[in-house]
Amino acid sequence: MPSSQTLIRGGLVLIDNARFAEASLLIADGQITAVIDGAGPDGLPVIDARDRIIIPGLVNGHTHSHGALGRGGVAPDATLETFLTGASALNGQRTTDDLRLSAELSAAEMIRKGCTACFDLSVELPGPTVAGIHAVARAYHDAGMRAVVAPMISDRTIFQALPGLLDAFDPPMRAALSAITLLPWQDTLATVHRALESWPVPATRVRPGIGPAIPLHCSNDFLTACAALADALDLPLQTHLAETRMQQVAAQSRYGTTLTAHLDVLGLLSPRFSGAHGVWLSRDEAARLAGQGAGIVHNPLSNLRLGSGTAPARALLDAGVVMGVGTDASNTSDGQNMFEAMRLAATLSRAQAAPSDQWITVPEAFHMATEGSARIMGLPRTGRIAAGWTADLLFLDRDYCHYVPLRDTLSQIVLAENGGALREVMIDGQIVMQDNRILTLDEARLATRARAAAARLDTANMQARIKAEAAATITRSFCHAACTAHHH
Ligand SMILES: [Zn+2]
Repeated sequence: MPSSQTLIRGGLVLIDNARFAEASLLIADGQITAVIDGAGPDGLPVIDARDRIIIPGLVNGHTHSHGALGRGGVAPDATLETFLTGASALNGQRTTDDLRLSAELSAAEMIRKGCTACFDLSVELPGPTVAGIHAVARAYHDAGMRAVVAPMISDRTIFQALPGLLDAFDPPMRAALSAITLLPWQDTLATVHRALESWPVPATRVRPGIGPAIPLHCSNDFLTACAALADALDLPLQTHLAETRMQQVAAQSRYGTTLTAHLDVLGLLSPRFSGAHGVWLSRDEAARLAGQGAGIVHNPLSNLRLGSGTAPARALLDAGVVMGVGTDASNTSDGQNMFEAMRLAATLSRAQAAPSDQWITVPEAFHMATEGSARIMGLPRTGRIAAGWTADLLFLDRDYCHYVPLRDTLSQIVLAENGGALREVMIDGQIVMQDNRILTLDEARLATRARAAAARLDTANMQARIKAEAAATITRSFCHAACTAHHH
């Protein structure tokens, strides 16, 4: 017999991600051990859920914990490329405590909005440290969340990544920007390897991954070394793939082919591989991804916010690509609401000028935001309610306006829910949010620490920000001209 069992009594339960039924759930050792018709046995500790709708926790297939402390710091007119130009001004000068604080803020926001697991590409500047990577892992562990913590790494700045960009600057600025270099990839990867070997928390709930940031920002040797490490240690690997048109234009210039074809030739594509965004993917690229069992994480809000475009989600699904949904970071998406991301995954497809039978359906959007993202994270048996699956559960208030009256429960969740009806969150069998309070984090203290850290970092990064703003103006016109020339 399992050591301690809990009975979740009653509730309108989404069983097998297929149908809703009045049911009870037996939970033990972080797992759902039985789905029971009716009220269930007596004599066990009970969570009364008769006025709840119970669904699996939403799985965020792509985010960045460092973004939480950068909230509000991304210009309203930023594109991805101008954002990257200033990324060091937003993420620079951070201590190990800052990295942990940002991850705690990020975890608190995700839990509040119904996310129980996330794929975090977290960055540390000028390069990763063992302490920094471990600080992020500990933050998720202590918050009670499930996560893949993948250090986001590169060996080229944006000025080295985009062919021709440096030439757009006047000589003094070109000289200054050329002088910015990242660590040799061998050093970076050695640090990551050390951090993984000494992983500070049980890897059952918070496990490592690897995040070569953007193919153009990584040399080919670096990319293949990342893939080799992922293979050797069985890690999920994620990169930003074809997020913007500029990236595909630069790929043609640098590689003479598409981003995905280039990665395919390098041997990066595999079931361990996922690309975030995938906005500018061709049919050939979709076929390559599908053929290797690789995944794409759809980040609709981030793509709208940065004007990157709209990912061809239907074409990717039809090609057989494993699809997840993500929020991207609290800086570039202004928040991490997985309900919102899932809803946009469904509704945005309706604006892509396809006939209505080509739209992303409600069950498809829900699947992408649960099992799809979980598969991309390499999480076994996560993202549905069934015996033997992880006890990561959301409890929605059946009396909340979104569900009154209740006719089509899954549609009303996917197309209306924003977290307003969320009452309790369970992760790994533990209640982590209840009575509008996160039990694993001191949110008031987090807020105090976050305000102080942001004030200190903004002062420390002020000169860098002024320089980044000047560089962003040139970068913006360079990218616009490059994409326009390519188009013609
Ligand atoms: Zn991202």
